[in-house]
Amino acid sequence: MSHDASNEKLSTRAVTAGRPPRAGDSELNAPISLNSTFTAGGPIGYGRYGNDTWSATESAISALEGGRSLIFSSGMAAITAAFSILPWGARIVASNEGYSGVMTLLNQYSQSGRLKVSLVDISNTDEVLAQLPGTDLLWLESPTNPCLDVAELPQLISAAKAAGILVMVDNTFATALTQRPLEMGADVVMNSVTKFLSGHSDVLMGSLSTNSAELFTSLESARKFNGSIAGPFEAWLALRGIRTFALRFAQSCKSAQVLAQRLSDHPKVSRVRYPGLVTDSQHERAKKFMATFGAVLSFEVIGSGADADRVCDSSKIITHATSLGGVESLWERRRRWPIESPSVPETLIRLSVGCEDVEDLWEDIQRALSAI
Ligand code: PLP
Repeated sequence: MSHDASNEKLSTRAVTAGRPPRAGDSELNAPISLNSTFTAGGPIGYGRYGNDTWSATESAISALEGGRSLIFSSGMAAITAAFSILPWGARIVASNEGYSGVMTLLNQYSQSGRLKVSLVDISNTDEVLAQLPGTDLLWLESPTNPCLDVAELPQLISAAKAAGILVMVDNTFATALTQRPLEMGADVVMNSVTKFLSGHSDVLMGSLSTNSAELFTSLESARKFNGSIAGPFEAWLALRGIRTFALRFAQSCKSAQVLAQRLSDHPKVSRVRYPGLVTDSQHERAKKFMATFGAVLSFEVIGSGADADRVCDSSKIITHATSLGGVESLWERRRRWPIESPSVPETLIRLSVGCEDVEDLWEDIQRALSAI
């Protein structure tokens, strides 16, 4: 798509990018291209190699993250493609408390010998730096899911790049509106488009963005031959979601800050994790390079895991469900999942703040907490 978004604010780019070129009666929105194959002689050739609806969505993601982007059938498909370009036995350094799906995948790779995996406390900069020698890939999820730990991104990225190490950043929680890792020098940015970018809990999708032509070619090849492609309708839905992304995200971040503050003073809550709280151990670092503090927070209730489950079951507006980043607020006790890291407290509830009125959300939270 031909639109040049380079001088626009990110919120404008979310609206303007990925549109068909303007002409009399041209379509305003990218159409849904339902084609498994194409007439011979063109640049695409086959439905697993390319699709105009993907290209529109990819242009919009690139307009936000920078670089060139590829979409995949899910965030995990994008991550698997990213890891697949590493040689057999390569060494990866990643967070010891990141998204449980990635932790599970890395554990499988480690057991099979596919990758050598070193897990670190990503918020401990010295510990990460000490692990860099001999590393092939530094995988930085920041803030982490679900403990909201923040990595010192600018310092870690530049140290790893100076040592010739590939750096990839999972930007799902922060989004491009908070931090832009490619501008900090990272090689690849990954997003679970399923979350804030799509924003309506109706699509699974992942993306990878990079400034490197060589990496782009390798990642595109991984998508082609692993077949981890997004459906055209999902691509269209994601692009439709991106149009309102900046508005939704601003509202959700604002409410998250209010709710984090109020939860910190609640007698049934022992700890709130949200980098926007001045009392949070990650706050000083986060405010140096994060433009927002995001719309996900975690808190621990006083009591047992069963008490935390009861809280999640007692809300009327917030839905007891996994996932995050939608217009609808969701919460869950993360340790209900057997694959969640045992270092995540049993009573930790992760709350994804949606776009409902913040006072209604607070009333709902208070009502749910009164169940214990
Ligand atoms: N990265 C993070 C931080 C996530 O929270 C998730 C999903 O929750 C993923 C990656 C995987 O994305 P998907 O569920 O779209 O495969």
